[in-house]
Amino acid sequence: MAQIKPFAATFHLQEMVQTIEKIGGPSFRVTTDRGKVFEVKVIVVAAGGGSFQPKRPPIPGIEAYESKSVHYSVRQMDIFRDRRILIVGGGDSALDWTLNLAPVAAHVTLLHRRSEFRAAPASVNKMMALVGEGRIDFVLGQVSALQGKDGQIAKAIVKRNDGSNFEIACDALLPFFGLTMKLGPVADWNLKMQDEEYIVVDPATFESSVPGIFAIGDINWYPGKLKLILCGFHEAALMAQKAHRYVFPDKRLVFQYTTSSTSLQKKLGVA
Ligand SMILES: Cc1cc2nc3c(=O)[nH]c(=O)nc-3n(C[C@H](O)[C@H](O)[C@H](O)COP(=O)(O)OP(=O)(O)OC[C@H]3O[C@@H](n4cnc5c(N)ncnc54)[C@H](O)[C@@H]3O)c2cc1C
Repeated sequence: MAQIKPFAATFHLQEMVQTIEKIGGPSFRVTTDRGKVFEVKVIVVAAGGGSFQPKRPPIPGIEAYESKSVHYSVRQMDIFRDRRILIVGGGDSALDWTLNLAPVAAHVTLLHRRSEFRAAPASVNKMMALVGEGRIDFVLGQVSALQGKDGQIAKAIVKRNDGSNFEIACDALLPFFGLTMKLGPVADWNLKMQDEEYIVVDPATFESSVPGIFAIGDINWYPGKLKLILCGFHEAALMAQKAHRYVFPDKRLVFQYTTSSTSLQKKLGVA
């Protein structure tokens, strides 16, 4: 961060690039999972092995409810205000959101398949205290089916450990089954891929099969590729030569060494 500081880069953290749309030649519209939209001339994908994606519970047809009434994370607590919520899991996320949403929601049920938890003992004690005060419910079992309409869940069918079933009426389901490393949205950007995992690039420029979209670091593939930080830096330096031409077509790119360029040294604060 200290090295980047003199170049005044802007950061948008804690969000994931979801979609990339071509709007010119080359220029793109990039949308994040928080709804931010950027219009850019060049994209450099440095997505490593991908991003952490929530593990989907094995409930038939759950996809139809996702983002409308099934949520794998909480971005805005307010959307759960006065709603009946079913939280599933026994780790820190499940317990933390049970405690945080209890005062906001109309009703919270925590469902876990066993009475032992992976979450911090202090959170488990707080949750049990709320159960004792009758402010939330804690139920043992697993969701086996969902019922609802047009993406809006109405109830969850829960299987008890003895095999019997019962229903929990709810407006939202929040499963917290942990995270797994997956390529994620990168797979949907229509770039030529190697082994369905890596973006194929030209090793002279690190440009992908789509002009204006580059890929550097662990996410790319070319003959002889090594997954090393050193290689990532090399790839970034070469990528910048071609990217500069797209962004500043009329500007000459001056090649300079930090050891001998006073203007670079001044910029870096080492002159
Ligand atoms: C155990 C281990 C030891 C290693 N030791 C060394 C070593 O000693 N020396 C060395 O040179 N290399 C080492 N490496 C390799 C090195 O860590 C990698 O080469 C390097 O971290 C790759 O950097 P990257 O920026 O390409 O990817 P990453 O560091 O994986 O960063 C990718 C980032 O992109 C984010 N991302 C993914 N998808 C999206 C999206 N759609 N929107 C927004 N963000 C997204 C991810 O969340 C992540 O933060 C080691 C690797 C491992 C696993």
